[in-house]
Amino acid sequence: IGTPSAQWEKYQGAPMGTEIECEGWRQEAALRMLNNNLDPEVGEKPEDLVVYGGTGRAARSWDAYDTILESLRTLEDDETLLVQSGKPVGRFTTHERAPRVLIANSNLVGKWDDWDHFHELESKGLIMYGQMTAGSWAYIGTQGIIQGTFETLAEAARQHFPDREGLRGTITVTAGLGGMGGAQPLAVTMNNGVCIAAEVDEDRIDRRLETDYCMEKTDDIDEALELAQAAAAEGDPLSVALHMNAAEMFDELREREFVPDIVTDQTSAHDELEGYYPAGYTVSESEELRQEDPETYVKESLDTMERHVEGILAMQERGAVAFEYGNNIRGQVEEHRNMDDAFDFPGFVPAYIRPLFCRGKGPFRWVALSGDESDIHRTDDAVKELFPEKEHLHRWIDLAQDQVSFQGLPSRVCWLGYQSGDDPDDLTERARFALRINDLVAEGEISAPVVVTRDHLDAGSVASPNRETEAMQDGSDAVADWPILNALLNTSAGADIVSVHDGGGVGIGNSLHTNNHVVLDGSSLAAEKARRVFTTDPGMGVIRHADAGYEEALEEAAESNVHVPMADA
Ligand code: NAD
Repeated sequence: IGTPSAQWEKYQGAPMGTEIECEGWRQEAALRMLNNNLDPEVGEKPEDLVVYGGTGRAARSWDAYDTILESLRTLEDDETLLVQSGKPVGRFTTHERAPRVLIANSNLVGKWDDWDHFHELESKGLIMYGQMTAGSWAYIGTQGIIQGTFETLAEAARQHFPDREGLRGTITVTAGLGGMGGAQPLAVTMNNGVCIAAEVDEDRIDRRLETDYCMEKTDDIDEALELAQAAAAEGDPLSVALHMNAAEMFDELREREFVPDIVTDQTSAHDELEGYYPAGYTVSESEELRQEDPETYVKESLDTMERHVEGILAMQERGAVAFEYGNNIRGQVEEHRNMDDAFDFPGFVPAYIRPLFCRGKGPFRWVALSGDESDIHRTDDAVKELFPEKEHLHRWIDLAQDQVSFQGLPSRVCWLGYQSGDDPDDLTERARFALRINDLVAEGEISAPVVVTRDHLDAGSVASPNRETEAMQDGSDAVADWPILNALLNTSAGADIVSVHDGGGVGIGNSLHTNNHVVLDGSSLAAEKARRVFTTDPGMGVIRHADAGYEEALEEAAESNVHVPMADA
């Protein structure tokens, strides 16, 4: 990838304020979002162009990064830049309503769609792993995933501990305190519970402590258990990072006959070579082994995953609620270790999230390009004013204001959906809110444009049989036409950046997914785009699940006037 670019050293994050370097705010938004991904406060290893999720990168090389910036600075309002696996490869005159940037990352033809081919091509400099939001310049740090994690745990609490005021008095055991996994301890304590999270890399632990995502750290499991049990007995929220390999932690827990209330995991198990750490090695020993003997590394890493999954299953057998948190650890041990009971615990989507997807609900997030925190506070007020009846949303905004530190460009995330009502002129929840932000920018109440983006994990944007589309009721888990239609529709509707990736979350060959950005600069063009994109994009979630026969989705389609031709007929 070359040596870090002088421009990146100079930026140290996104440019802020109201002066722009590019020809327009749409191009400027792309430039700021790319640099925001690589802000040392936001990305996990920006000096290696790595943003999060194992090796999820924002650009293929430092030369590619420099050329992307140069291209964005001179891109006209009627041009579109094409980015192929993190490298700018072309630029065409299109038109003002078209996207300014189109991105495709990590995609391989079916028969070649696996890590081996990917690594071979990567070593020749031909492809890049874009994860989900890394390669689409939409990563906003741990603050971006926190509400999803909070909602998942809130739903788990509702289903399994209905009398407990969220997770109060319960202990959740998990692992992985990286870019996404780092949200877990805070999401547990926001739900009033206690969390023990194993993490092998002490630097990652310290990062979560510094940003208040986690409260305590120890490398002594007995101390972790004592602290956790005392807090749970009092009903106090507490999070403890345990400096230890996850598989070793589960062995120790079994030895002590300790059974938590909930077990899950967010280590980067989707990538056995560069994401997951084998037991018995420190981080630096692991890195040495990875360099010197990658084959042994992979073997040890998969052996550790097997132990890790056995530990989760043992806890489940003894009464813990277990779910996989989207890192494909079950798929890995089923495929590489023939573990036929690996899927005896569910993934988090079928367990807790799918009913929301049926209604087109997903992680709607917005970023203040000014860098001014008060712009986000104004949007916090706006979302409450617009949805006065949504108590849960108000609680989330209050908690987020109080407990979630901003990283890089200030941002917020809220799960919003379709729910437009049956009048064809009614707007979806997402469109209503986006148009309100656009008005606030036009009125000068927000000091600079706001970019709205979302996770790739959304209602109608992913095919991922071990995660978002696990156990679809019609068996359509692996059908990848849906994300492709989603990207085409986002482009037709005029989103400002559209991307299509392979392998995010669960590893190469295991998923296909898309992302979009819309820049709200207060103009009537932005309003027109927002109205279209925030109808069609969540609408894809409704039709995808209606097509699979989900009652809630068919109901939503009927109530909200979403046309599903075969159901309408
Ligand atoms: P990351 O690579 O930034 O962090 C992973 C962390 O796990 C690292 O800190 C690493 O040190 C630690 N780790 C690895 N092996 C370990 C082991 N055996 N024991 C203890 N710690 C270990 O990744 P991330 O962005 O936090 O994502 C984590 C996983 O979750 C990935 O597989 C990712 O694809 C998946 N993911 C899930 C969601 C979701 O919504 N659930 C969203 C994004 C990503």
